[in-house]
Amino acid sequence: MNTTFTATVLGSPRIGPRRELKKAVEAYWAGRIDADELLATGAALRADMWSQQRAAGLDSIPVGTFSLYDQVLDTAAMLGALPERVAGIADPLDRYFAAARGNDTVAPLEMTKWFDTNYHYLVPEISPQTRFALDPSKPLGELAEARAQGVPARPVVIGPVTFLLLSKQVDASGPLLDRIDELLPLYAELLGLLAEAGAEWVQIDEPALVGDRTDDEIAVARRIYDELAALTQRPAILVASYFGSLGDALPALAATGIEGIAVDLVAGSDAPAWVPGLARKHVVAGVVDGRNVWRTDLEAALGTLVTLLGSVGSLAVSTSCSLLHVPYTLEAESGLEEPLRSWLAFGAEKTGEVVTLATALSRGRDAVAGAVEAGGSAVRSRREDPRLHDETLRARIDALTSGTRGRSEADVRRRAQQGLGLPVLPTTTIGSYPQTREIRLARAALRKGEIDQAEYLRRMRSEIGDVVALQEELGLDVLVHGEPERNDMVQYFAEQLDGFFATQNGWVQSYGSRCVRPPILYGDVRRPSPMTTEWITYAQSLTGKPVKGMLTGPVTILAWSFVRDDQPLAETADQVALAIRDETVDLQAAGIRIIQVDEPALRELLPLRAAEQQAYLDWAVGAFRLATSGVADSTQIHTHLCYSEFGQVIGAIAGLDADVTSIEAARSHMEVLGDLNEVGFDLGVGPGVYDIHSPRVPGVDEIEELLKEALAAVPAERLWVNPDCGLKTRGTEETTASLRNLVEATRRVRARL
Ligand code: GLN
Ligand code: ZN
Repeated sequence: MNTTFTATVLGSPRIGPRRELKKAVEAYWAGRIDADELLATGAALRADMWSQQRAAGLDSIPVGTFSLYDQVLDTAAMLGALPERVAGIADPLDRYFAAARGNDTVAPLEMTKWFDTNYHYLVPEISPQTRFALDPSKPLGELAEARAQGVPARPVVIGPVTFLLLSKQVDASGPLLDRIDELLPLYAELLGLLAEAGAEWVQIDEPALVGDRTDDEIAVARRIYDELAALTQRPAILVASYFGSLGDALPALAATGIEGIAVDLVAGSDAPAWVPGLARKHVVAGVVDGRNVWRTDLEAALGTLVTLLGSVGSLAVSTSCSLLHVPYTLEAESGLEEPLRSWLAFGAEKTGEVVTLATALSRGRDAVAGAVEAGGSAVRSRREDPRLHDETLRARIDALTSGTRGRSEADVRRRAQQGLGLPVLPTTTIGSYPQTREIRLARAALRKGEIDQAEYLRRMRSEIGDVVALQEELGLDVLVHGEPERNDMVQYFAEQLDGFFATQNGWVQSYGSRCVRPPILYGDVRRPSPMTTEWITYAQSLTGKPVKGMLTGPVTILAWSFVRDDQPLAETADQVALAIRDETVDLQAAGIRIIQVDEPALRELLPLRAAEQQAYLDWAVGAFRLATSGVADSTQIHTHLCYSEFGQVIGAIAGLDADVTSIEAARSHMEVLGDLNEVGFDLGVGPGVYDIHSPRVPGVDEIEELLKEALAAVPAERLWVNPDCGLKTRGTEETTASLRNLVEATRRVRARL
């Protein structure tokens, strides 16, 4: 029926090697370019990507993983499942972007994490009114483009099971998966059209099958793929999984009539060689890590591949997932020194590794001996580098973690902290203040060499002076310095710690047009000198009120970096924690009495499978406690959490044992307080009473109302008053007005206690 292929990747980055797509999309939104120009930029990026992949030697190339915003939104558009509220927008591009970002009259779709990656997708809303209908123009259009270019194109679409499992049901209840039979004819039609247009293979992504799935869900998947396989007019079907093991879903898929299955052999532990049904399938083995930046141990990967050779029908080499999650190419990094550089592989280099491995399989290892040996010596050099094995550091951690990781009892601490002299319902903010034009100009001027470090310092201090004065004027109780010197809450620390390095151009898409440049954590983490004390003590010198020191926690630093893969994450977390701990001790010695250690990403690293979650939460909590237990009882530790549904981590929040936890709550009516009560949480808590995600200024009455709701769940002695998150994305005027209202509402509530 088809020819198999030997070397592929599951998807490609799309934001552009120099973030061309980001710039074009933003220019289109701002009205600076028209739709034709935007679409032409997209087409040029696709064409370049395909020709590079072909030149590298892939013999099957994913087509359709390009997106102007998000692949799940593309799927919703393809299936006629955009929300009703955008249906009236005539222009398809405007309609698409309205669903993504909202406009003056419609709210956007919600956004959430794409499995356990740092990519965020838009959550389709499906209601009983949704009438699915196929719009095949995107997959067909991109297929035609690729074929015109002579590319061995393999269209990629998100599968119906994953699409429904990731969507949100509105105005109805019951599992959305029940509606799969409405989607089946659309996929059948699409497969027919793709075959007609010349596709030999189609890749249907079903990453949702690597999570904990019920037997019923797996049975649905099995039935759907049996039905699709039974079609006569269709390409060969490759069902792709990634981000973990398929587990029971693997034999179920293998029992269907599909031709191929892609398995993630990096994040997952499936053993395709032991699944009898695979003896007649094309297995696409994801042995090259698609979401981390390390060079592959080719010898080890080859070993894995060879064990599969005799037991599966045919074999192709691939990345473990789409290359969406890594930067384009190392070639854009001129500042990277050896041997560090030799340890890495970004998108283009990983593609090369796939081809090398495929060549070794087809022509023997000798055909690529040079590449395999070069890879081997890089892997060895990394393994043996002393920067990855600091025995003194490791001994220090062992000594610190051999006992308990905790502090004194909460009551003892509470008494010791009474000296802070705080009023009931203390008011505070989360750390950052608006990033003003002056701050941005100063940063740019420093980068361009127009001002020197001393002048930059002077300007940041003046900014801190303004922020402290503003807080005093507003009457807040616990002040912050405002974080003007920080570009980013992780990068700022990564830049000052040993064991990390920064890339110049290592951008990856976070969502839509937003890109991040995660630091690379390659070695043992050490803090050569204090990172924040100078700033915080300067702020403290300007006021008699306590100033909170502001640090990022170990889990968040890991979650927003590329991390080493040669030791358990828990070990790396403890190293970062130790650096933060040393910083808290220095802050305390410098006279700072309150220190906040932010962990907004606590939930982000939560494993997909329930069986692995507790172990994660244990080490995550342990790292936080290591970071925060070096200070005296009289030093008050705060933490801050946001971006999440806290459900699965609520017990862990209590486990952090921070004296005060500020937590996002304004939009969810203080619900989190009830959840915290249920797990016996009895420490200080500041549920956000000002939603900083919106420019709206909350009124005094509204904040008062929220405080009353909070007081229904938490006694006044434990309640703090603060916004939901940092203020850096907001404007000065609206934050000033909002904080003024927050202080006033607190006064009113206090007066009636
Ligand atoms: N302290 C940080 C700030 O205020 C916290 C940011 C966050 O939670 N994402 O900006
Ligand atoms: Zn936050």
